[in-house]
Amino acid sequence: MWSRILAATAAIVGGATAALAEPLYPNSVVSNELEFITTRDENALGCLVFQDRVRAEMPDKRREELFADDVFQFQARFTDGTQVDIYVHPDAGEMQRAEELANEISRPIGALPTLMRQKLRHVVVHIGDETAFAEDRGRFFTVYSDNMATRIENHDLEETVFHESVHATLDLPWADSAEWKQAQKADGGFITDYAARNPQGEDLAESALFAWALLRYPGRLPVEVEEAVRTAIPNRLELLEQILKVDEPIQQPIGSYQGCNG
Ligand SMILES: [Zn+2]
Repeated sequence: MWSRILAATAAIVGGATAALAEPLYPNSVVSNELEFITTRDENALGCLVFQDRVRAEMPDKRREELFADDVFQFQARFTDGTQVDIYVHPDAGEMQRAEELANEISRPIGALPTLMRQKLRHVVVHIGDETAFAEDRGRFFTVYSDNMATRIENHDLEETVFHESVHATLDLPWADSAEWKQAQKADGGFITDYAARNPQGEDLAESALFAWALLRYPGRLPVEVEEAVRTAIPNRLELLEQILKVDEPIQQPIGSYQGCNG
């Protein structure tokens, strides 16, 4: 993989009109060892509060039926005043297991910037081993317990949550906007194969993760990767600086934090 990055970088450095860089990686989240977001980053998670057992919409790749009964409903409350409901499927069994899962997914939600978290409506947690997916219009995403465990072990859960949250909170209105399409066109290449294959559905989420690490935590990504990103998607990087409001604090108070009561 390194040789591929260096080759791409060399091709760009070699000539002003060099051919477009090849995508750096197959995808942003699981095909590399990069730490874009860490568990030590600023985190706004304040409290997780159990609400009730409810009937709720639990969209699932494996099933046709939309609703489930006896869903564990939690509310994750964040110190910036945002709140996100976490719905855990009753297949979790015991309350303790449901609470563990809700906690595990709430942490990385706390690392999101306020501007994304305030648009995230809720998160659905299923028991099983499928990859996560998001719903842009519904402003939620769905994760599966065994896949979460794998991603925690590989330090990829923060990145997964960020990627899915881009779909849930920024795809509308940005992914289909004239500004984004213009930046794509001006850049030409893509940051990952996944983005290249899905320029409308995945490019914003794939590019945003690289942009987040590079713009918020300069020096965190290896210097060769930073260089390659700046060379491959300069126009998208500039637009993402605005979309992700990089000149503002990551966490911004937008309401009063309720604490753990009630
Ligand atoms: Zn995606």
